[in-house]
Amino acid sequence: MDLFNSTILKLEQKGIKIDDIAEITFDLQKSYINDLKIEHVKEEVINVIKKRESINAILTALLIDEVVEKNLADKDICKIISDDEGLYGVDEILALSIVNVHGSIALTNFGYLDKVKPGIIKKLDDLGKNKIHCTTFLDDIVCAIAASAASRLAHYNKKTT
Ligand code: MG
Repeated sequence: MDLFNSTILKLEQKGIKIDDIAEITFDLQKSYINDLKIEHVKEEVINVIKKRESINAILTALLIDEVVEKNLADKDICKIISDDEGLYGVDEILALSIVNVHGSIALTNFGYLDKVKPGIIKKLDDLGKNKIHCTTFLDDIVCAIAASAASRLAHYNKKTT
């Protein structure tokens, strides 16, 4: 299996489907693009995930969350990450490696999604808060993919005069 498909599979094993991310992106862009189709949104979500920067960030995020969940590293940092402490922002910084290659529309939407937490992002956040799974890094990754797909849609639908 290639790295892209194994990344998609790993996300699915965490309960995250392309459709879940596409729904968030659709809501971000539906008022800006006439006749926006969910199929088109899914394509852009896939295009974001296909990028090597994204695959690297996603796999790193999954690895850190898993190590923390199993308490396999230094106890102090595991607790900080597991508690998703307010002053811990390394999870957002890792996710920015996806956002940063998709421009300012991705950046503003990333901040918005991190604050509002629609759909699957809230579900991931709740899993983390209730200590069912460590999702400290993963929720930001989903925000970054959805926000970056929104930016791709905005750019490729721009009308040139
Ligand atoms: Mg987080």
